[in-house]
Amino acid sequence: MANSPQDLKVAILGAGMGGLTTALALAQRGFKNIDVYESAHDLGFVGAGIQLAPNMARVLDGLGVWKPIEAEAVNISDTSVREGATDNELAHVELGYIEKTYGYKHMVGHRASLADGLYQGCLKQSAIKFHFATTAENVESFGPKPSFTAVPRDETQKPYQVQCDVLLAADGIKSQARVEMLKRLNVDVGVKDTHQAAYRIMIHKDQIKDDPELLALINNTRVTRWIGEKRHIIAYAVSNNTIYNLSTTQPDTNFAAATNATYTTKGDKSAMLGVFSDFCPMVQRMLNYVPEGEVCEWKLRVHDPLPTWVHEQVALIGDACHPTLPHLAQGAAQAIEDGAVLAVALSRLPDTSPDSINKALRVYEKVRKGRAEALVDMASASGRALHLGDGAAKAERDRQFAALRAGGGKGPVPDKWADADVQREIYGFDCTKVTEDNFDEYFSQL
Ligand SMILES: Cc1cc2nc3c(=O)[nH]c(=O)nc-3n(C[C@H](O)[C@H](O)[C@H](O)COP(=O)(O)OP(=O)(O)OC[C@H]3O[C@@H](n4cnc5c(N)ncnc54)[C@H](O)[C@@H]3O)c2cc1C
Repeated sequence: MANSPQDLKVAILGAGMGGLTTALALAQRGFKNIDVYESAHDLGFVGAGIQLAPNMARVLDGLGVWKPIEAEAVNISDTSVREGATDNELAHVELGYIEKTYGYKHMVGHRASLADGLYQGCLKQSAIKFHFATTAENVESFGPKPSFTAVPRDETQKPYQVQCDVLLAADGIKSQARVEMLKRLNVDVGVKDTHQAAYRIMIHKDQIKDDPELLALINNTRVTRWIGEKRHIIAYAVSNNTIYNLSTTQPDTNFAAATNATYTTKGDKSAMLGVFSDFCPMVQRMLNYVPEGEVCEWKLRVHDPLPTWVHEQVALIGDACHPTLPHLAQGAAQAIEDGAVLAVALSRLPDTSPDSINKALRVYEKVRKGRAEALVDMASASGRALHLGDGAAKAERDRQFAALRAGGGKGPVPDKWADADVQREIYGFDCTKVTEDNFDEYFSQL
């Protein structure tokens, strides 16, 4: 048996935001044996932007990797919600107060920059060993010594069995570990089709150098959302204002074929333009900058809350246990919180018995599950409000937008990520501190 928690052999499945954060946070708390298995050949992150909310920045700063990510990110000053068809502003909210209130700015960045910041942090830790191009298959045992088969993509190498003391599955929305855990628990929580899909688009500044209207957008520090019935586009500049990032949501009509690991499929440019054909000319011009053949569409999937994220000495992390719609921009932030909380919980183990490991994992679940699932629900609700068609509900939403305008941007915001009460709940939560403060009490109650 390991002498101290730090001697435990930890295996992590997946080197996404959740897996990288977990590895780094554990290494920084002195864990010496951390192996990360990733089926891709490298980090392979898609060209897309990501919101770097204060709750994410707080964790990254604690791990010492925020500064380089921040240096390339854009500090958001305000947000504008606009009618897609007319470009008329429905609401405008100043966000400058966020830094004063929560200690971190609300920034937006490039996913590659976030992933690379975490990865570079991991590379400085000799305790972390990466096994790229290696897929974890068949969790054969969930405890007391979890084990799985590691299958190298290079077919000249033989599959081998990995045994560890703690197995942390951050293997994303299609998590095989989740499927196997639920099978063991004899429960059936199916994937839920949200009937929504997303295009992710990046426009480089040199593409729009002759378009003053779009140049003004890329040069500003605003998150803009254009909304319409069942659809919207959210957009902001990333990479020191050199790239304009757009992420859309629209009805999912194209996805019988999206069976790959990330639920993506090659989109069709004319179909994309068709979805937003009644949006204003400026939006249409932006969409037209996407090169033919480079349209990529994501199927957006969630599932009902799992009965548990933990079985024996195995825990699920991130999209593997709480996939969410992107409308609150919190999926990666929540995966990152998971990693930070797990590292605190495991480092506080009073001994290294399997029973104590299971209890520490359940402390992680206690701190994280209710919060993450509340945000999943809130993201769905915010999407519903943004996508309303004509009727009483839309009239009430638009009344709220009007009240917000009349109040100079103060009051409830139907676009929930910009709502001050929602921000308080999300950004005001210091997951590391909450776990530190409550570990002993929660552990002793189990
Ligand atoms: C359109 C869109 C916009 C978004 N915008 C934001 C945003 O602004 N802010 C935000 O915080 N979040 C956002 N998100 C959500 C965010 O991208 C995800 O929640 C986050 O990436 C989840 O991280 P993860 O580590 O759990 O999973 P992933 O990032 O999916 O990582 C899982 C990893 O596991 C690997 N893997 C899978 N199976 C295996 C296996 N069997 N063996 C080994 N490796 C395996 C995969 O290759 C992958 O690298 C958005 C999502 C979408 C779709």
